[in-house]
Amino acid sequence: MWFPNLAQDSAYPRDLLRADPSKVGGGTTKYAAGFVGVYKQTPVESMLVKESLALYRKLHDEGHDIGWNQCGSLLLAQTRDRVTAFRRMKAAAVQRDIHCEWLQPEAIEKRYPYLATKDVLAGIFIPEDGTILPEKLCNVLVHQCKANGVTVVENCNVSSILCKAGKVVGAETSIGRIDCDYLINCAGLWARALGKQSRPVVRVPVQACQHHHLVTKQTELATNPMPAIRDMDASVYLRVRDGGFLIGGLEPNAKPVFEDGTPPANWEPKFLEPDWDYFTPSLEKALKRFPALRDVMLERLVCGPETFAPDGKWVVGEAPEVDNYFVAAGMNTMGSSSAGGVGKLIAQWVVEGRAPYPLYALDVQRFLPLHNNRKFLLARAKEVPSWMNQVPYPFNEFRSGRKLRMSPLYARLRDAGAVFGQVMGFERASWYESEENAFTLPHLFDQHFIEKLYANTFIKEYWLSIMYIDLAPTKN
Ligand SMILES: Cc1cc2nc3c(=O)[nH]c(=O)nc-3n(C[C@H](O)[C@H](O)[C@H](O)COP(=O)(O)OP(=O)(O)OC[C@H]3O[C@@H](n4cnc5c(N)ncnc54)[C@H](O)[C@@H]3O)c2cc1C
Repeated sequence: MWFPNLAQDSAYPRDLLRADPSKVGGGTTKYAAGFVGVYKQTPVESMLVKESLALYRKLHDEGHDIGWNQCGSLLLAQTRDRVTAFRRMKAAAVQRDIHCEWLQPEAIEKRYPYLATKDVLAGIFIPEDGTILPEKLCNVLVHQCKANGVTVVENCNVSSILCKAGKVVGAETSIGRIDCDYLINCAGLWARALGKQSRPVVRVPVQACQHHHLVTKQTELATNPMPAIRDMDASVYLRVRDGGFLIGGLEPNAKPVFEDGTPPANWEPKFLEPDWDYFTPSLEKALKRFPALRDVMLERLVCGPETFAPDGKWVVGEAPEVDNYFVAAGMNTMGSSSAGGVGKLIAQWVVEGRAPYPLYALDVQRFLPLHNNRKFLLARAKEVPSWMNQVPYPFNEFRSGRKLRMSPLYARLRDAGAVFGQVMGFERASWYESEENAFTLPHLFDQHFIEKLYANTFIKEYWLSIMYIDLAPTKN
């Protein structure tokens, strides 16, 4: 969905071709809830969303109908740790030039009387956030692309990427061979499969999972000005759309789709049946927060396949395997928010020959071949979606996809009390437990210590004093 942005600026090449086996915007984009939120975990992500917002506002001001509504977003906290996370967020927002308004529960109750706020400890309002209609945005951008001289070919499938001397030279497509100097793999949930269609293979470690949202019928309730609401601890969101409400949620233990690693080429919505049982906990949490929703008629439950990277960060940049082969995939429920910024970033990168700013956290080069392993991706994909709304503790570790790489000393370190953390797939001893804490059974031993590692906190970590003791002999 970000692609048409390449043609926005006159500095960028005109000789562009966008090929799509269906209609542009016909992939996951047509399921997006259209929420655009500027505060993201890292400054560079926030910066890219700011670029998106600037583009969406410009299009809106020029009179294009992209459904832009600068309604702001209201984030709610139910736990003390979330309040701490909000405080950190507010401080970081100053540095990122994002205005955040702190709201006490009384203020939330007064401003949003339709919300049940008994269990709410604090809230944050971000006025520059808003909502779009992603399909409309795509249509407008495609229209602008064409007006700027870009050839847009729909119903055209890219079957393989041709490389020569380690550089992209073209692609085989359903309408014949197309020569090109640069190629951008922005194939969403097909990006990994397309990455395998070149020699050498380009690794794009992404996996799609089910993501549901519920659409209600039109209601008078939705006519009031209302922000996009994100109940962070409940992991549900709500926005007004087409005179009704759209309610979405991310449940723990996500459900991967197309598990054999090859999404069907002519994918149709019928492949993803909505799962009411799976979505019901999210709906219950939304009803608890917004009780008046009980009287609103439900229209349909939608299940879309959203694509996740193993670390929950976007996958962008030039592939290490093939020169001039770019990737923009793995949008982790933030494709509408990132589209404008990521499009501009890739365009600058192609034209200038290097990234305009450091992107370590998002760069496709951060992955190793083992991250593209299907078994690993399936295991990790079940966990990643729930991270999207988790409290961002400083030393959080993924529980799934562990023990990818272990040193020959692993068993000895474990038996000596090592508690492991993962770096580039490597299990590294983070600290050593004392003997009296150690379980005697090796398998329990592992589990016990892994759980300790996840004793998430913003205050002094349990293991810090142990590390000081270990450090003393080294220092002396
Ligand atoms: C229920 C739901 C709600 C969401 N809500 C939000 C939200 O509120 N805010 C937000 O920011 N994000 C949201 N998202 C996420 C967002 O929709 C996605 O991140 C985004 O649409 C991904 O866009 P994309 O262009 O990467 O992939 P896609 O939209 O899937 O586009 C990929 C395109 O590549 C084409 N393609 C594939 N293979 C080939 C090939 N071999 N040759 C040529 N073309 C090919 C496909 O036809 C498709 O058009 C939501 C997602 C879901 C499912």
